[in-house]
Amino acid sequence: MIYLDGNSLGRLPLAAQARLADAVTREWGDRLIRGWNEGWIDLPARVGGKIAGLIGAQPDEVLVADSTSVNLYKLALAALHAQHGRHTIITDDLNFPSDLYILQGICRQMGPDYRVQVVASPDGIHGPLAGLAQAIDDDTALVTLSHTTFKSSYTYDLTAVTHLAHQHGALVLWDFSHSAGALPIGLNAAGADLAVGCTYKYLNGGPGAPAFLYVRRDLQETLPNPIAGWMGQRRAFDFGLEYEPAPGLARFLSGTPSVLGLTAVECGVDLLLEAGLDRLRAKSVRQSEYLIGLWAARLEPLGFTLNSPRAAARRGSHISLGHPDGWRIAQAYIQEMHVLPDFRRPDNIRLGLTPLYTTFGEIDTAVARLRTVVEEKLYEKYSGEITAVT
Ligand SMILES: *Cc1c(COP(=O)(O)O)cnc(C)c1O
Repeated sequence: MIYLDGNSLGRLPLAAQARLADAVTREWGDRLIRGWNEGWIDLPARVGGKIAGLIGAQPDEVLVADSTSVNLYKLALAALHAQHGRHTIITDDLNFPSDLYILQGICRQMGPDYRVQVVASPDGIHGPLAGLAQAIDDDTALVTLSHTTFKSSYTYDLTAVTHLAHQHGALVLWDFSHSAGALPIGLNAAGADLAVGCTYKYLNGGPGAPAFLYVRRDLQETLPNPIAGWMGQRRAFDFGLEYEPAPGLARFLSGTPSVLGLTAVECGVDLLLEAGLDRLRAKSVRQSEYLIGLWAARLEPLGFTLNSPRAAARRGSHISLGHPDGWRIAQAYIQEMHVLPDFRRPDNIRLGLTPLYTTFGEIDTAVARLRTVVEEKLYEKYSGEITAVT
């Protein structure tokens, strides 16, 4: 089996297997409630501090909590509250749908003056830089984008877009779900305000692992957490009846953290820190260029289009190939060729290159097998009906 879906669900790190077994048997099974004082309570900040090392932030600027969707809700709403008198959220149509739904919900909640403006990509592949420059103005409260977009893999220039938003007094909230662990990110260097991201993709934290959030240090005391729960309370265990936010980033915690989830995330993050993101990025670019070369020579003649940017600097670590029979081809690819990509409508076969474990040989074999599916028309017996999880 060739796994090209590490950008949707990363592989299981061997260390996580042993670590989780210990967390279940000894920590949960034996230590029980004492576990909270023996390390569990520190996990959100400790693992967040390690993730900070992957995204160019300070250790006290990153926490692990909740899901990406919930963190996006918390930070986007906090930003709107802080941006009194501004009513527009700017994003693009390459963004992940959950992000758009959350933003739409926030605007409904804030009232009829608030709106989300979705700027259209010129070609469905590249980010709409000119459109964003035109849309961002003095009514813009927040600009929020996927740093690397889930379908085409387009990667925004973090510094340039952050600067553009700041020129107009807008805050920026980046979603790093398809960037974290895939390429080096310089959050502090870009002066970015807010960020969220996923840990079960390139960070290999496991299915449904908790997400991370970043709040630049100087904003931490000024932004309110709209889900102000007891874990973000100044003295949670005083059980006081009035909320008083904890100092610093801790106020962005809401409820009890997922201890087993966090335990697995830490193993994945440790592995990436050990490998070094600069080295992983160098390999990822070489592998992506290699795959694009194979596409041009061996797949384009069979009707596949490159639905990702051609310039390596503007790409994350996955490549989308389009084909009119994409869905049926993906089914045959999985069932008969034992290659696992994923499929994104309308026609994208998305190939995730995860340099931690993807080899050049696997890329070569995966392309050969994709040719076989088309040349031998193996896909023709599959139905065009799309299943629930793709
Ligand atoms: C994967 C992903 C998410 C996932 O959000 P969940 O809350 O974990 O379901 C959100 N945003 C983007 C851009 C993603 O790629």
